[in-house]
Amino acid sequence: MSRFATLEPQPKDPIFALVDLYQKDENPNKINISVGAYRDENGKPYVLPVVKKAKQILLNDPNANHEYNPMTGVDSFCHNAAKVILGKDSPAIAEERVATIQTVAGTGALKIACEFLKQTKNTPIYISNPTWANHKAIIENTDLEWKEYSYWNQENRNLNIEGLLEDLNNAPDNSTILLHACAHNPTGTDPTREQWKRICEVIKKKNHFTFFDCAYQGFASGDLDNDAWAIRYFIEQGLELIVCQSFSKNMGLYSERAGYIHIVIKPSENASVIAKNVRSHLGGITRAILSNAPNFAVRVVDIILSDPELYKEWNENMKVMSGRIQKMRKMARDKFVELKTPGTWDHIQQQIGMFSYTGLTVKQVECLIEKFSIYMTKNGRMSVAGLNEKNVEYFVKSVDWVVR
Ligand code: PMP
Repeated sequence: MSRFATLEPQPKDPIFALVDLYQKDENPNKINISVGAYRDENGKPYVLPVVKKAKQILLNDPNANHEYNPMTGVDSFCHNAAKVILGKDSPAIAEERVATIQTVAGTGALKIACEFLKQTKNTPIYISNPTWANHKAIIENTDLEWKEYSYWNQENRNLNIEGLLEDLNNAPDNSTILLHACAHNPTGTDPTREQWKRICEVIKKKNHFTFFDCAYQGFASGDLDNDAWAIRYFIEQGLELIVCQSFSKNMGLYSERAGYIHIVIKPSENASVIAKNVRSHLGGITRAILSNAPNFAVRVVDIILSDPELYKEWNENMKVMSGRIQKMRKMARDKFVELKTPGTWDHIQQQIGMFSYTGLTVKQVECLIEKFSIYMTKNGRMSVAGLNEKNVEYFVKSVDWVVR
């Protein structure tokens, strides 16, 4: 008898389970709006043209090899990635008070960051209600505790800013607060700049520690600087923080696993020494978990980041993606208005990034799946990137049917 015979199967990941069902579905009108991956106007996965060019450059590079990297990653790659998220003129970078390492995309960054917090701080991590489901899993897997702060106002379908501020105020001093830097998953609803300022004020007052997850820089508005505004503002305010950075979405490198952690140390005389020590600590954690992060995708990323022409082209590619999503939001919203679908649908257009929190109930979503082969998560979240000019009408008419 195997010593593992008593193991029960894990529950299927709800999103990957939906993708399975979608693939088996024979309805020619089927739509997959469950998974957070960009699709082009034909519903097909999209390889960014700039990524194709960078891969060709890498292929032709006679010096490229497969040697091991340092545990912390390649220094120049780390530096270039930090400039994308913290800004090329960031005083924190100039003052060498940023500890950056390569990671296994955004999820790997979150995991290493949680291990680091476990070793250095070990207090509960406050996450938004709702949040990306894997946040809870990663925190629990690190034997840390999570607690929730209010985020979503279901009635008005917008941010519950007063509830959020109250919860941060009521959390014990020096708590860790996990914030989505932009394009909040699953709600597609971010604080405004004024609201970010209020959040920052409470965090400062309570001496909380900020933990930014940034998986969608460039997706929210099509502009990298704009989408990193909150992070840069918090740093300007003198806060010490973690940023987990993913290139999965904004370079379409999902399965290749490109990402970084940046820990920004607050200004002081010995901040750069502290940053060095933090970086070596992050390297030590990486060593014990995965030795060193994979290099193929970050090499592609770095070819793009270090060439001004390719960097410009990347920004244009991102505008194509975010622009198409915004267009789909508008088309869907206009169609709902045209059909006089019960309820308000402006939020579909107002929300930003990859996702929309539609407000559909579990029952309505189940009906969309069973009757119309439209696959979305039970919480009513849809990945707007799954819509296109050919299927948006079918989608809206189906939703119209289920809400009536
Ligand atoms: N954070 C959030 C909020 C996400 O939605 C995702 C991806 N769905 C990630 C992190 C991690 O992305 P990846 O590991 O693919 O870079």
